Amino acid sequence: MKGSSTSDLDVETQLVHLVQASSALLSRSDPGKALRTIFELAASFVTADAYAVWRMQAESRWVRVASLGLSDQYEKVAFSESAIGPLPEDIFSIEDLQSHPLVARRHEMYRAEGLRSMLTIPLLIHGERTGTLVFYYRSPHQFSAAEKTLAGALGHLAGAALSTAELCASQIEMRAAAEAAESRAAFLAKAGEALAASLDYETTLETVAELAVPDFADWCGVDLLLKNGEIKRLAVKHFNPAKIAFMRELIEKYPPGEADAGRIAISTGNSLLMSEITEGLITARARDAEHARLILELGLKSFIVVPLVAPGRVFGALTFATAESQRTYTAADLQLAEDLARRAATAIDNAQLHREVRDNEERLRLAIDAGKIGAWDWDVRNDHVEWSDRVYEMHGVAPGTFGGKVQDFSKLIHPDDLQMVESAIRNSLERGEPYDLEFRVIHHTGEVRWLTTSARVIYDEQGRPVRMLGATMDTTDRRRAEEVAEKQAEALARSNSELQQFAFAASHDLQEPLRMVRIFGQLLSRQYKGKLDSQADQFLEQIESGTERMANLIQDLLAYSQVLHGEPAVTLVDCNEVLAVVLQSCRASIEESGALIEAGPLPTIPAEKLQLVQLFQNLLSNAIKYRKLNEAPRIRIDARETPKEWLLCFADNGIGIAAEHQDRIFAVFARLGGNESGGTGLGLAICERIVKRREGRIWVESEPGVGSRFYVALPRSVSAPV
Ligand code: ADP
Repeated sequence: MKGSSTSDLDVETQLVHLVQASSALLSRSDPGKALRTIFELAASFVTADAYAVWRMQAESRWVRVASLGLSDQYEKVAFSESAIGPLPEDIFSIEDLQSHPLVARRHEMYRAEGLRSMLTIPLLIHGERTGTLVFYYRSPHQFSAAEKTLAGALGHLAGAALSTAELCASQIEMRAAAEAAESRAAFLAKAGEALAASLDYETTLETVAELAVPDFADWCGVDLLLKNGEIKRLAVKHFNPAKIAFMRELIEKYPPGEADAGRIAISTGNSLLMSEITEGLITARARDAEHARLILELGLKSFIVVPLVAPGRVFGALTFATAESQRTYTAADLQLAEDLARRAATAIDNAQLHREVRDNEERLRLAIDAGKIGAWDWDVRNDHVEWSDRVYEMHGVAPGTFGGKVQDFSKLIHPDDLQMVESAIRNSLERGEPYDLEFRVIHHTGEVRWLTTSARVIYDEQGRPVRMLGATMDTTDRRRAEEVAEKQAEALARSNSELQQFAFAASHDLQEPLRMVRIFGQLLSRQYKGKLDSQADQFLEQIESGTERMANLIQDLLAYSQVLHGEPAVTLVDCNEVLAVVLQSCRASIEESGALIEAGPLPTIPAEKLQLVQLFQNLLSNAIKYRKLNEAPRIRIDARETPKEWLLCFADNGIGIAAEHQDRIFAVFARLGGNESGGTGLGLAICERIVKRREGRIWVESEPGVGSRFYVALPRSVSAPV
C-alpha cells in the first residue's frame, strides 16, 4: 500500500508534467509532427522498448502509421479487424504475447520481432476509436497501475492531438484547394475576357499565352496547324525575355520533330501531362548530347500539352511548362488547361466563322463586280493561295496540282505580262493601289488565255497586309471579239477611204466626157431639131435630160465625197451670212415657186463655212422642191441654244414625209418620189455627212400633207471633227 501511495504520488507528479507538456503536443498542426511528439512524450513518461500508432482505415483495415523501435519487417501488411476481432474498448495489456489467446494468430509475428509484452491504449480520434497507441516490451513486463494510468492519460492526449492536427491539416488542405480553385476560376475568367475581346485568333492566342505566364505556367507555347499541314509556333512566353531568346535559339537549332509533345497532341487530339520531367527522360528523348544539355539548362520541371480542338478538327496545341517555380502539375491543372483550350477553341471557331462570313461577303461582292467568275484567297503572311475550282479551270491547272504559292502562280503567266502582274501585286500590297488588271496565262497545252482579275487587300491592325481576296474571269472571248471588231473596223475604214477616192476620181473624171456628150448633144439638137423625124427629136430630148441628170448626179457625188475630203477648216460662221448666200443662189426657184422664206435671229457657230452653205442649200432647196402643188412654199428657219448644242430648224409647209420613211431618207440615193423632181437622192445624205463630221445630229419630224421640220443639232464647242 505504501509503495502504491508513493507510486500514486509519482503518478500525480508525472501527470502534472504530462499536462504541462501537452500544450506542445496539442499545438501541432501537422499530423506527422504530432506523432513524433507523441513518441517523445511516451518515451519520457512510460518506458518501453518500442512504440507504435495504428490507425483504422478504409474497410476496417489497421495500418501502422508511425512507430519507434520496431524493425521495418514487422507487420508490413495491414491486417483487418476481422482477423483479430474487435479491439477492447478500454486500455488493455498482454503480459505474455506468446500465450495470450486474443493474439493467437499473431504469435509468430511477435516472436520474429522478439516482442514479449504489450500495452494497448485505444485512441479516440474525432470521437471514434479509430486508433491505438501501443507500447511494446522485448522482455516479459508486468504493468503497474501507475503505468497504465499514465499510458491512458497519454492515449487521451494523443487522441486529442491527432484529432486537432488532422483537422488543421484538412483545413489547410481545403483552404489551399479553395485558393487554387479560386485562382483557377479567376484565370479562366481573365482568359475568357481576352478570348472574347478579339476576333483575330492569333492575337487571342497570344493573349492567352501571356495570361498563363506566370500565374499558371513559367512557360507557355502556342502551336498552330496550318492548312498545308505545317505546324507554326505562334507564341512562346516566359516572364524573362532572355529565356525566350534562349528558347528561340533552341527551337531554331532543333526544330520540333514528329516526337515533339505538341505534335503528338495535334496528331492524336489527346492531352499530355508529365508531372515530373526527369533528367533521364530528357536524355532519352533529346536528339543528341548538346540538345539534352540545352533542355536541361532550361530546368523544366513539369509540363502539360493540350490540343486546340474545333468541331471535327485539331487546329493547334497549347503547351504549359514549369521550371523556376518548381511547381508540379496535377490532374486538376490538366483539367484547367483543357478547360482553357476548350474556351480558346470556341473563341477561335467564332472568330473564324466571323472571318469567313466577312470574307464570303467580300468574295461575293468581288464576284459580282467581276462578273461572277472565280474567287481566290491569298494568305499573304504564309504565302498560300486558295483557288476556287473555276480559277483552276481558268489557269488550265488540274485541281490539286497547284503549289499554292505566288511563285507557282507566276509560272503560269505569259512572260510578256509577268512584270506587269508582279508590279501590280507589289503596288497593291505596299501602296494599297487597286488591283484590277487583264493579263495572259499559258495553259499546259500551250493555249494562251486572257484573264481579268480584281482584288482587295486586307490589313491587320498594324496595317500589314494579311490577305488578298480576288475574283478572276476569263475574258479571252471578249478580247478576241474586240480584236476582230478592231481589223474589221480597220478594213471598213480602208475600203471606205478607197471608195471615197474612187467616187471622187470617178465623178471628177466623168465630168469631162459628160461635158463632151452635153456639148455634142446641144450641137445636134441646135442643128437637127425639127429637121429629122419626130422620133429623132424625142431621142435628142432624152439625151439632153439624161445628160443633165447625170451632171447633177456627178456633182452631188462629188459634193458627197468631198465632205470628208481634206483637212477640216472650222471657223466661227455667221448663219445669217450663210442664209444670204443660199437665198441668192436659190433666187430663181424662190421666184418661180413664190416661196416665202422667214428666219429668226441666227447665231454664229463653229463650222466649216462651205459645208454649212451646202447644208442650208440642200435643206432649203428640198423645202421648195417638195412643196404642195397648189400652195406656195412657206419656209421658216429658226435657231435655239441648249447647254451643249445649237439647234437649227428648217420648217416647211410641203408634202411631208410618211413616218416609215423618215429615217430612210438620209441614206445615199434614197428617194421617195419619181424622177420628176430631178433629185439624186444624195442631198440629205450629204447633209447627214456634214453634220456627223461635226459630231452633230440631223432628223426630221413630219406629217404628210402638212409639212416637215428638219432639225440640225451642232455642238457648241469646237471639238476635233471626225
Ligand atoms: P433628192 O432631193 O435629191 O431626192 P434628198 O436626199 O435631198 O434627195 O431627199 C431624199 C428624199 O427625201 C427626197 O427624194 C424626198 O422624197 C424626201 N424629202 C426631202 N426633203 C423633203 C421635204 N422638205 N419635204 C418632203 N419630202 C422631202
